[in-house]
Amino acid sequence: MNYLFKLLLPGLILLGQISNAQTNGDNTCGTTGITPWFKWYVENREMLAQTRGVDTNWLYVPVTIQITGTDEGDQHMNLESAIIALNNMNQQFTEARIRFYMMPGDPFRYLDNSYWHVHGWDGGDDLINSNFLPNRLNAFVVRDPAGNCGYSWQDAIVLGRNCSGAYNTTWAHEAGHHFSLPHPFFGWEGETWDYSLPAPNQVSGHNVEKTDGSNCYVSGDFFCDTKPDYLNYRWSCNQDKESLTLQHDPNGEEFRSDASLYMSYSLDACASRFTPEQIEAMRTNLNTQHSDYLQITDPLQEISDDNPVELISPLDTVFVQYDNVTFSWNPVPNASLYTVEVGLHENMLPRFVWETVYNTTTLTVTKNLPNNKLLYWRVRPYSEWDLSKQLAPQQLGVFKTFNTTATNELERKVQADLSPNPVVAGLNAQIVFQSEEPVSAMLFLSDMNGRKVYNQAIQLGSGENLIDVPTDKLSAGLYFVSIQNESGSIVKRLAVIN
Ligand SMILES: [Zn+2]
Repeated sequence: MNYLFKLLLPGLILLGQISNAQTNGDNTCGTTGITPWFKWYVENREMLAQTRGVDTNWLYVPVTIQITGTDEGDQHMNLESAIIALNNMNQQFTEARIRFYMMPGDPFRYLDNSYWHVHGWDGGDDLINSNFLPNRLNAFVVRDPAGNCGYSWQDAIVLGRNCSGAYNTTWAHEAGHHFSLPHPFFGWEGETWDYSLPAPNQVSGHNVEKTDGSNCYVSGDFFCDTKPDYLNYRWSCNQDKESLTLQHDPNGEEFRSDASLYMSYSLDACASRFTPEQIEAMRTNLNTQHSDYLQITDPLQEISDDNPVELISPLDTVFVQYDNVTFSWNPVPNASLYTVEVGLHENMLPRFVWETVYNTTTLTVTKNLPNNKLLYWRVRPYSEWDLSKQLAPQQLGVFKTFNTTATNELERKVQADLSPNPVVAGLNAQIVFQSEEPVSAMLFLSDMNGRKVYNQAIQLGSGENLIDVPTDKLSAGLYFVSIQNESGSIVKRLAVIN
């Protein structure tokens, strides 16, 4: 920790504050209050500004993403989605010159615990304290963070899976809190107010910010480049990125809230920035309270755009066992994480496999792939540092699934479907053969006692073949249709009815 901060702020507990169980369940944030660090910052920012000097360097923040699931080990947020959320947050922090990366060697963890996965404040407290990791931003992704979209508490951020999509600003908002920023509407959290009335001079014991700027450093969020904002619920914006709701400051002046701020409660689509003063506070916080995050001063290696993932197998429509497919590919320089997708079509929809693996270039899939299908697959490279390759074009592999655990060679090569079954005596049953290659065989029809009642030589071409099985001399009963040659046999039961 920064020496200056230690000197000026002895004995203060460095924890964020948490809302008084504000679980309104409408995609808001659970963080209220201001941190002791921020109080110190507000009191000393002039002195800090004088001693700062040139501050144009990038600050690099390592993150371990901890993704909860149920006790049974399901419902995790998809790991690539979490990578995309972090990459998205990097874009949102570009102006602040802060870049997040996954902690090298410890980029993500899975926590299977239903108590943490859907939690109230007790469960959140237990989640953070049982899993907190030093020297990095702790980001927990859960299904339900105490009824909120997310919150920042006890030096960690907790994000709701459903508020962590590519177009959400939840991560940036909570990281803003983590680096000390209050809501622009600080003081109004949990209040109800008739906005057509002039606001009181104080709310929750805190000064209400006026539109004339006269009290902006001692009211609201303590910043002067964020305008007054009293809206403590999720609100939508107009074309000018302002609130639809008109508010009135203590002097009766009319104004609309600035929707462009990540730290406001405007809908995610309205928000696009931190202000210079907010950025200054966050960077100062990183350089003091969170200086243990600043482990590197230079960027790490990117993954080259000219390096698509080269697939090894399966390729070229090869047949593979549908419930045991091992995908393999060549390593990409600087990549350590790979996302594997398998889908029915070239656009990966429907998608049967979507899995991100770490420090390996193979993935074995034993479930979820359909049998007898032509399927496509591709791989995207990531690293702890480079989270940006979700849109990079990649090679497509094609393969066919098949049940190769059939008991003999003929079954492996030929598939037979018999219909209708049962068949009415006198009508033909039909067998549709799918054959990998030309096959000669004998077709036999035998009764329950093994007596052959019909036989026919058949010649199958590769692909689909249709063979009639006559039933006109048969009485009702069960029969076996068998196809045999030197490489094996296929047997089907046929019911004949009157
Ligand atoms: Zn918040």
